[in-house]
Amino acid sequence: MTNNKPTAWPRLNLAAGPVEVPQRTLREAARPILYHYDPAFKECFAHTTSLAKQVFGTEYDLVIMQGEAILGLEAAAASLISPGDKVLNLVSGVFGKWFQDFIDRHGGETVELAVPYNEAIDPEEVRRILQANPDIRFCSMVHSETPSGTINPIKAIGNVCREFGVITLVDTVSGLGSELVVPEEWGLDIAIVGPQKCLGGFPGLTLMSVSPAAWEAMERRQPALRGSFLSILDWKTAWFEENRFPYTPSVGEIYALESTLTQALEIGMERLAWQHQLIAHACRTGVKALGFELWAAREEIAAPCVTAVRTPDGFDEVRLRDLMRRKYGVMISPGYGELNGKLFRLSHMGPGQVHPTVLAAQLAIFERSLADMGHPVQFGAGVGAALAELGEWDDAAS
Ligand SMILES: *Cc1c(COP(=O)(O)O)cnc(C)c1O
Repeated sequence: MTNNKPTAWPRLNLAAGPVEVPQRTLREAARPILYHYDPAFKECFAHTTSLAKQVFGTEYDLVIMQGEAILGLEAAAASLISPGDKVLNLVSGVFGKWFQDFIDRHGGETVELAVPYNEAIDPEEVRRILQANPDIRFCSMVHSETPSGTINPIKAIGNVCREFGVITLVDTVSGLGSELVVPEEWGLDIAIVGPQKCLGGFPGLTLMSVSPAAWEAMERRQPALRGSFLSILDWKTAWFEENRFPYTPSVGEIYALESTLTQALEIGMERLAWQHQLIAHACRTGVKALGFELWAAREEIAAPCVTAVRTPDGFDEVRLRDLMRRKYGVMISPGYGELNGKLFRLSHMGPGQVHPTVLAAQLAIFERSLADMGHPVQFGAGVGAALAELGEWDDAAS
């Protein structure tokens, strides 16, 4: 007999983004759809833009592009790179490698600096390559490699690039919120964030900060990219110069974003980053206490938004994830792309997820599912080790 029952929804979405959205965001997103030239909507859009600037802590222009963060990444490539431009692409994971497709598409010439996908980029290697290749114009990099659960030192890398006058394109889609990101001080010309990761918002928009040097490079490109969904310059002309939209924005998504950013600022960006880092540390401690190894080569480069756990030899990680999801309603993430099977990911991103209650539940169901698999487990060993690290947590502190 076939079972036509619809799949039960999970109790906890602890996947690596999109993550569960707070009730308040759902309520505030459910406002009536306005005409985009209604003065109330223009005010809402301007307010949302100014909130995004505060979340980035930047005075650079902040563009809200109307599509998933991938749109922002492709738009940055399309708006900056022209045939023959040399681009240093830093690869420490799946997203870094993926960016090369965009460089290729726009005729750029890639110089690749790659490290194993459990490692991080060394800023001194970047310096060496820039010294040897003075014609490199751009450097693309990923801050938080979500699929690897690792983080790159983009502050140091960005500052090396600035010394050489190289324009940086930075994917911090899952970075901002789990760390403070300061575009001006870190040498980030274009920094791209997705609301659906550490900010705990809806998927569907790109937040992008753009430095004056990046604007200038876009305007100098021959020909400058105009009249395209990928054109960042069209947003500059329309929104910043003429106070109109190049096309209809996703009105409902903007409501959700306004709410998401407001909530992040209420917590405070510094505190939100600290929370991610503390919970991540506790999660790693719990996983290790259960006898598992981290995917990241070193604890210092483990990402604060997701813990990637190396799949032990002979361990059926598909079964683990299936048990957690089907029996107990806890959704976690597999390895992505070429990392599939090699690791699985326990995520802790966004204000709704970054909390001792949620981490305790995640690790408890991890233990329960291990026992279901016949894997030796002492109940409470992982949860206990994690909770022991959380003495500093305090909801009442601000
Ligand atoms: C989520 C994510 C993206 C964007 O991918 P989507 O398919 O738009 O969700 C890009 N880079 C990184 C590092 C990410 O984590």
